[in-house]
Amino acid sequence: MVHAPNRPPAGAPPVRINLYSDTQTRPTPAMKAAMMEAEVGDEQHGDDPTVHALCDRMAELMGKEAAMYLPSGTMCNVIAILTHCKKGDEVLAHETSHILHSEGGTHAALTGVQIMPLKGARGLFTADDVRAGIRPKTRYAPPQRMLEVEQTANIGGGVVWPLAQLTAVTDVAREQGWATHMDGARLMNACVAAGVAPKDMVAGFDSVWLDFTKGLGAPLGAVLCGSSEFIGEAWRWKQRLGGSMRQAGICAAACLYSLDHHVDRLAEDHANAKALARGLAQIEGVMVEEPDTNLVFFDIKGTGVAVEELQRRLALQGIMVSGLGGRVRACTHLDVTAAMIPEAVTAIRDALHA
Ligand SMILES: *Cc1c(COP(=O)(O)O)cnc(C)c1O
Repeated sequence: MVHAPNRPPAGAPPVRINLYSDTQTRPTPAMKAAMMEAEVGDEQHGDDPTVHALCDRMAELMGKEAAMYLPSGTMCNVIAILTHCKKGDEVLAHETSHILHSEGGTHAALTGVQIMPLKGARGLFTADDVRAGIRPKTRYAPPQRMLEVEQTANIGGGVVWPLAQLTAVTDVAREQGWATHMDGARLMNACVAAGVAPKDMVAGFDSVWLDFTKGLGAPLGAVLCGSSEFIGEAWRWKQRLGGSMRQAGICAAACLYSLDHHVDRLAEDHANAKALARGLAQIEGVMVEEPDTNLVFFDIKGTGVAVEELQRRLALQGIMVSGLGGRVRACTHLDVTAAMIPEAVTAIRDALHA
């Protein structure tokens, strides 16, 4: 039986502080109002004006020719790989990447590519790491076709790739004739934290997508951007996979709303994450990684309490955190206020040491 990861234990009270994930935000009343008023049409036929507005806006924001609205970020990754690569091709990506760990084995099941896992601290790798992964172009080696980067690096710790490092790795890919793809699930967190405009951050990439259901707080959807030719090809996969929609403008309106109202405020999430990290660092036996953005990872091995046990104890107090890569992850977002941070720190301290 495959389980849902964060079902609270029986007898747990309602969730009061949800640090489990930025995917669990609820649409705000103003976002819902924008959805109610959306002009809609048949997205699959290219007739939904709100989806068009979202795609035009995203193409402009990312400095790419075209964009496509999809139900999820996972589908963006799958479609980008299907469009750039053929079966048997190799994709180079960090060993902690979402495409390797969290997409249900899509590449074995659907795309047929193999992934070369690159090493490197905090979810990042260098141009030398990429060079070390270059295979000889012989009949023995799998053809290498694409380099993938995750901005921010989730399991790496919500780490922001510095722009110069992005340029260095995409330069190697370009020399090799590989496509470059950015999993930008939390791209806006990176742009706000680094003070870099999205189009500059993604300039070295042939394709990039942004998730609207993470810190941006929309209920559904992600947008994949690239050249007109790439998006044209990608549309065939969208149709094949059942990702073509109908009156999707209802959801695209929430995405447009989030671009207007929920980007700059990501700085608050980052400040809350830093405050949380400072509080957690005071707890005996806890090792905290300094957060770049809204993800706070901490190791509790020094307390002798298992991650699942901490999750259970906190859930009984209405507090949710997640376990990822052997550490605890606490994520700040739209529904986490500054006032909740000291309360969460106290609860975590008590759960570990009471
Ligand atoms: C969430 C996430 C995805 C997948 O996005 P969904 O919209 O949940 O399918 C891909 N990559 C990273 C880094 C993510 O955090």
